[in-house]
Amino acid sequence: MPPKRAAPSSSAASKAPAKKSRPSTKGTGAENAAALEPARDPRWASLSGSANADMNYKITMSNPVEAYSFTLLCQPPLPNGDEDDEEDEDEEPKQRCDGGKTCLCSKPAADHPDHPWKLSVAGKTKYFIQHTQCDLRDPDNFEMYTFNDHMAYGVLEVIQNLFLDYQNAGDNVKEQCAVCEALGLLLASRRGMEMSMIDDGELFEQTLLLVGRLFLSMLARLERENLLSKDSKIFNLGTIMAIYMMIPAQNEDGFQATPRKESIGPKKDGKNWRPSEFPSYILAYARKYDIKLVGPHNIEELVSEAEQDVDLPVPESNTGAKADPFGFEKALKAYSTRYKGVMQFLSKRKKAGKTAIGGDALDITTWTPAERKAFAFKGKDPLGAKEIAALKQGSVLGMR
Ligand SMILES: [Zn+2]
Repeated sequence: MPPKRAAPSSSAASKAPAKKSRPSTKGTGAENAAALEPARDPRWASLSGSANADMNYKITMSNPVEAYSFTLLCQPPLPNGDEDDEEDEDEEPKQRCDGGKTCLCSKPAADHPDHPWKLSVAGKTKYFIQHTQCDLRDPDNFEMYTFNDHMAYGVLEVIQNLFLDYQNAGDNVKEQCAVCEALGLLLASRRGMEMSMIDDGELFEQTLLLVGRLFLSMLARLERENLLSKDSKIFNLGTIMAIYMMIPAQNEDGFQATPRKESIGPKKDGKNWRPSEFPSYILAYARKYDIKLVGPHNIEELVSEAEQDVDLPVPESNTGAKADPFGFEKALKAYSTRYKGVMQFLSKRKKAGKTAIGGDALDITTWTPAERKAFAFKGKDPLGAKEIAALKQGSVLGMR
């Protein structure tokens, strides 16, 4: 499907006010716009749908009270085996989602404590934006054929960007939680599963191991900040923890290379773990703090498959800036060194991308018209002058 319109799509992200309409109280409009505009991340190309989507997120989520409040989704945002339910006529018919008119969507989470599908507004918005990010990396949407697995590597590029977002949000625990929501949901979604199509099993596996490590480092931080509890201010802990337990199940064979045991920080405690066992550690945190794992249809099975008895790090041993017992930063650095430039190489363009991992080399809107034309079915740039002008103005390309 070719990109039909460059106008803001119906996603929440596009509700951000356009640059010109933002309030200007004093001084020149330009000065104010510069002051209000969130920083543009250096990982993006100068013309990039990814950058626009990211900027839209930052602008839409600029009010922290709103961004970190919790909202409901009436249906799980995942394929969760419910295909079976649809055939099961005896079950009570499910209420259709009507975008919040009568369904639970966007209702205040506090009014429905037992509904498992709660997300922070930031996490939900970020999750939907990741689908836009994936769409921008799907040559089918542009009526192009580039190379095998472009889409699958595109999903990987999106996931790598979420690693960087998590790292960048280091000062803001709530934003780190929002990144975790988006990352976990994306990986569990149909779109996220397309990443398993890449032809590099090691890169796939190392990426999932880093996901597990990222999430454990999040849990360890929440524990240190007394946010890990049954009645935590992070209302959806039980759901998000359960989603991360689903992740290794994507690969039916499990992890091929069993990673070596390594120290779970700090060394003086003498504890060890294997990064591939991350679901067991998630389960251990849930048990330690009496957090009910809810959401995925197969959660009981996931729990029974996990190692039941693992030794969690001691939070008191892990204080200060380098407190992460699971060593996410160090692992991210090693991963970046190992896999830098892969996306740029795959995109077949000489001047692609800016960062070691992540970025937007596979985002087709960052390609030049000539580069797109060379791979287009119809032999012309699938983006018209209108779409390119809209991209320059910061619009998010709508694909549907
Ligand atoms: Zn709904």
